[in-house]
Amino acid sequence: MHPTIRRTLCGAVATACAAAALLTAGPGAAVAAGPPPAPATARVKVEIPGPERGTDAGSGYTRVPLSGQAKGAARLSEAERAADGDVTKMIDNGSTADRLDVVVIGDGYTAAELDRFHADARQKWAEVAAVEPYTTYQNLFNVWTVDAVSNDSGVTGDPDRGAVRDTALGSYFWCEDIERLLCVDQPKVDAYVAKAPAADLVIVLANSAKYGGAGYNEPSATLGYEGISTASAGNAKSGQVAIHETGHSLGKLADEYFYPGVPDYEKYTGPEPAESNSSTLTADRMARERTKWYRWLGEESPDGGVVGAYEGGGYYVTGLYRPTDNSIMRVLGKPFSLPGTEAMIAGFARHATFVTPLTPTDRTLRPWHTAKASVPRLADAYGRQPEVKWYLDGRELKRFRGRTEVRVAELWLLDLRAHKLTVTAEDRTSAVRDPLVARTLRTSATWSVRL
Ligand SMILES: [Zn+2]
Repeated sequence: MHPTIRRTLCGAVATACAAAALLTAGPGAAVAAGPPPAPATARVKVEIPGPERGTDAGSGYTRVPLSGQAKGAARLSEAERAADGDVTKMIDNGSTADRLDVVVIGDGYTAAELDRFHADARQKWAEVAAVEPYTTYQNLFNVWTVDAVSNDSGVTGDPDRGAVRDTALGSYFWCEDIERLLCVDQPKVDAYVAKAPAADLVIVLANSAKYGGAGYNEPSATLGYEGISTASAGNAKSGQVAIHETGHSLGKLADEYFYPGVPDYEKYTGPEPAESNSSTLTADRMARERTKWYRWLGEESPDGGVVGAYEGGGYYVTGLYRPTDNSIMRVLGKPFSLPGTEAMIAGFARHATFVTPLTPTDRTLRPWHTAKASVPRLADAYGRQPEVKWYLDGRELKRFRGRTEVRVAELWLLDLRAHKLTVTAEDRTSAVRDPLVARTLRTSATWSVRL
């Protein structure tokens, strides 16, 4: 590979060039040279964040050791062990069954630094919630923190590769010889994730200000979460990496960056990709065949420009198209594109619902009862809220629109039969155009009622 191309791919750090080669490399292809000397048994696929001085959101994928060198609680004092594993519901928007539960775990925080971990977790969540569609839908999320007490403050590989620290989750920079690749001991992470009641998404915050991160985007078979993002607590660009990673884990989006000048990635000749934001089709064909992001073609996108079919994406320079020039799936710090936003909302709706019955639905309500439901408020710039409707035996009772509670006496039931009272809440956002996704933004609860 030509040295100039290497720089384009890998940024300022020359050794990080391994990343590009690893796009095609299989398990075990790379040998970790820096600390820690990880036992290279089981490996897991992670995305490498883009270079610090560059715009690419990522540098492809590599396989890293599943387990690291975490020693865990072995050296902790009794008091430290008592604090280890504490779970806090930092942001509470309702029951875990109806909300997307984010679990944040810190690494490289000593017992004395746990207060700062909580402040760091709050700050990092604020960075995520500042990006649409997280902003609008932030009340669909619960955020949990799990305290992991480390023996040492800071993580391995910060400030340089000679720095070795004993931390609860074994976080380390210089993973697979790539300075900005911040890996963890996944079984250790899982042990802390399991302490929270539910996890849909996991963020591991390293007690560090150094740029880095990693996207573990394979869903957990045992714990149910969709992915782990690692990030440095004190680095804002690192937070953008974490948001990009949720584009994969929650949005099921493809990468939109590509590698000019690398022979293997000049031209894509494979089948149509499964991801909603990557296609072999031109805009004309997409419109004609009514497929992929055709509903958004020609619309102004929040990341700039109009939605079209821009050649380059999914690591390939030609043969694959992306919806916009510079969405967060290509460039850190940019918003999601219109199709990307829709995909993210679809991901939120996989875990969160728009109506939660507060009155139990498993017993018949009588005239002295009230049917109550909670509907999350949207933090929408236009003040839009989910549309709430009530139905008796399938017929809408228009006078109850927008209400979150109805007394059974208000139904004026005239016979002794059991009837069905249903409440629905629907988010009729213009950010979703696919009817299959729109359907998931409508949820309901039904009670049996009688005189
Ligand atoms: Zn990516």
